[in-house]
Amino acid sequence: MTHLIAGVETGGTKVVAAVARADEPGRIVDEIEIPTTTPDEVGSRVRAFLGRHAGVQHVGIAAFGPVDLDPDSPAYGSVTSTPKPGWSGARLADLVDGRPHTIVSDVTGAALGEHARGALVGIPDSAYITIGTGVGVGALVDGRPFSDTAHPELGHIAMRRHPDDDFDGVCPFHGGDCVEGLAAGPAIAERWGRPTRELGDVLDRAVAVEAWYLGQLVATVTYAYRPQRIVIGGGATKIPGLLDAVREASVREIRGALGVGHPSNQLDTYLVPPALGDRAGVIGALHLAAAHAG
Ligand code: ZN
Repeated sequence: MTHLIAGVETGGTKVVAAVARADEPGRIVDEIEIPTTTPDEVGSRVRAFLGRHAGVQHVGIAAFGPVDLDPDSPAYGSVTSTPKPGWSGARLADLVDGRPHTIVSDVTGAALGEHARGALVGIPDSAYITIGTGVGVGALVDGRPFSDTAHPELGHIAMRRHPDDDFDGVCPFHGGDCVEGLAAGPAIAERWGRPTRELGDVLDRAVAVEAWYLGQLVATVTYAYRPQRIVIGGGATKIPGLLDAVREASVREIRGALGVGHPSNQLDTYLVPPALGDRAGVIGALHLAAAHAG
């Protein structure tokens, strides 16, 4: 019998589950997409989906978080503190009915997907930054998650203020003292009083302020993980002109501290958009499962 594996990506608005052969994680044989309602509802539908496929050996889970990944912790495998109603304390193992599974953060899953089949193919050390309803960072070392027992929480790093920005910020923990509070999608929308897709006459100013903060984040990710390439994705990065502005801001931020030969000086190849769009997470979860399937 052909061994099967499954990938589950839990996102803020939707959950995607897919099944593939263990020796061909790139070829999805069945898939469902369901809205992220309550853990009970999502769990019953994911379990029913997995139940239709006999012989699923291992499930890779890419989960929004924060998620406790420490096997010695009593809260292992659960979502810790999230503003998403009903999900604080939810146990991800319950989604897969006790099948063998491996959990990573959603953005680490996206990094694994891009590494398997997208913009990070052939890049051993890399990172994925997502700017959406929150700010997340995943890092891969030698193509594997930077740590098996914790994931980075760089959305909350402190920021130097843009000189013209007095916005209060939206982080529930830090207000305007962290990158998520100042630069995630909801911060952009609230600062400018309109959706990120409709910035209109404030576009240039919005791009300048956003790039100021994201340049600092890229510099921090660069210093911490020394990636050869960084993917930057998420809804807010679709703002016209933002990618080039962040590339320039990150070079200004790093100011040559890593030498002129460092990959961060190669603007077009160091900081790149995702190749897989919002498919990266589930593809990464499938490859994660394949890597762990006996
Ligand atoms: Zn924060």
